[in-house]
Amino acid sequence: MTTVTKALSVGALRAEPGTKTRGSVRADLGTLTVDLPLTLVNGARPGPRVTITAGVHGGEFTPVDAAARLATLLDPDEVRGQVIICPVANPPAVYDGRLNVSPVDGVNINRVFPGDPDGSPTERLASWLFAHLVDGADVYIDLHCGGIDQVLRDFVGYRLTGAPDLDGATAELAGSFGIEDVILGLEADGGNSHAAAARRGISAVLVEVGELGQRDGATADRRVDGVLQALRHLSVLAPTGQNGPTGTTAPAVREWVWAAGVTAEATGLWYPEFSAGDDVAEGDLIGRIIDPADGAEHEVHTPVGGRLFYGMHGLTVAPGHELAAIAAPWDPDPATRPADFRTPGVGVAPAEPDPHA
Ligand SMILES: [Zn+2]
Repeated sequence: MTTVTKALSVGALRAEPGTKTRGSVRADLGTLTVDLPLTLVNGARPGPRVTITAGVHGGEFTPVDAAARLATLLDPDEVRGQVIICPVANPPAVYDGRLNVSPVDGVNINRVFPGDPDGSPTERLASWLFAHLVDGADVYIDLHCGGIDQVLRDFVGYRLTGAPDLDGATAELAGSFGIEDVILGLEADGGNSHAAAARRGISAVLVEVGELGQRDGATADRRVDGVLQALRHLSVLAPTGQNGPTGTTAPAVREWVWAAGVTAEATGLWYPEFSAGDDVAEGDLIGRIIDPADGAEHEVHTPVGGRLFYGMHGLTVAPGHELAAIAAPWDPDPATRPADFRTPGVGVAPAEPDPHA
């Protein structure tokens, strides 16, 4: 980790050591501009730089709520290092669409990181966020939850990079949020922001807490507490202090790896037969799609066994819509891992290692 004692600035926003600055910075996306809300917390003492984003997707309310609460809560006198908080990283998707794709160009920004400064508006936004907020951080925490039509069991995700020190530090970080389930991706590939950050050597995690458009304070507080615990783990905050509960012991973590994403093969009405967090066996029926024209029934079975971490809750689906994502227990020891367990690029695997994220 680098130690930082100098001024912290993003665009025209600037925070001297020992101060906090709140405001917004305008990003030019070619055909439009967006104003990104930012809080810069520049600690009185040196330490790592941590970037926290929420609102990368629209319709994910508790992360936005939690990031805003955190921005109010953090006191630069108590912070070692620097914390950059962006509660609404994708304003068009958050304010105008409430979906994981942007209404501006139909792009899911979390498929295109680190972005393209000459690309579509969403690709330009990804590039701006990556260049101004993520690159240069020691640690990156990206807050998500199930969307308005998604059920989800809380989990932390991260990607293996093959660099032992980085992967070890990220595994410890992933275990510090007080969330039992950690899902790892065996490669740092694809356009997820945390994957792109991992490829740059940044310790990066995806934190998923909440579902179904919930916006209750208890869920947001649970998330804030988790981030505060992580900041204590990183020594950005002292082990005990004014911010939230103290002395809580992190639960034992179970590690999983993504095993399958199940997508709809028919248009119609979706009747799931699972709850988020259910354990399923290969071939289990997980729901039915009913054709509203003639009542014809299309059964959906899971191609793999494991735990169902999130799934579609909306009634109406079309081919390609994601119905469920399933992870299998991960055995880090190749000597005892089942020989047929999937290796990167082999066997049944979702098109994206983090299909929702
Ligand atoms: Zn998301």
